[in-house]
Amino acid sequence: MKIDAVTIFPDYFAPLQLSLLGKASSAGIVSFGIHDLRSFATNNHHAVDDTPYGGGAGMVMLPEIWGLALDPLMVDDTDLIILTPAGKRFDQPMAVELSKAPHLVFACGRYEGIDDRVRAHYSSHQYSSRNIRVHEVSIGDYVLGGGEVASLVMIEAITRLLPGVLGNPDSLSEESHNEQGYLEYPNYTKPAVWRDIQVPEILLSGNHGEIAKWRVAQAKKRAADNL
Ligand code: SAM
Repeated sequence: MKIDAVTIFPDYFAPLQLSLLGKASSAGIVSFGIHDLRSFATNNHHAVDDTPYGGGAGMVMLPEIWGLALDPLMVDDTDLIILTPAGKRFDQPMAVELSKAPHLVFACGRYEGIDDRVRAHYSSHQYSSRNIRVHEVSIGDYVLGGGEVASLVMIEAITRLLPGVLGNPDSLSEESHNEQGYLEYPNYTKPAVWRDIQVPEILLSGNHGEIAKWRVAQAKKRAADNL
């Protein structure tokens, strides 16, 4: 998978070199391209924003500069993800869908966001006929300062689903938010007693049938408690 991100703060993406993502990148499972939007600015002050038409607070990111940054990334079969708190909510099924894509491009907004003509332009037939899809995506019902952290959240959730990224792929089948909307049971490791809190007896019993039943019951209880 190829992942590109366009941002005015490329340094935000340093964590892509760490942990599972760093290993996946070294192993060639995923490759990252981080592009500095400001390097496409054509004006003297390298400004990437201007005042909004119609008035109002804040600044809006210039479509011209976004176009220059995104055009070279719009190869056939690309999913362009425009981060916005007004977008469709990111969840595990969306992560699964996007993990099947060959190429993702993340457009990280700042200020009041990106001029909406950028979304409209790349949603047109000229692009959809080349399997270029545009998604406006929010990672939750709150407002961040920019799309960088939201992109990292999505990239981590998507790439850990790629074959070869997790040491033990079985971890994926029994974890929270799978197809059944399941939430994982509580986990314990050694010692059996920590600060006077005992690991549930059943987990020490060696009775795998009863352990499996206990875990299902705990998972259901968690789901009910979260309603
Ligand atoms: N004026 C926008 C609004 O009210 O919807 C908020 C803009 S926000 C301050 C700046 C940028 O942060 C957005 O363009 C987007 O890229 C990013 N952002 C903020 N919250 C986000 C969220 N919940 N999910 C995804 N991206 C978000």
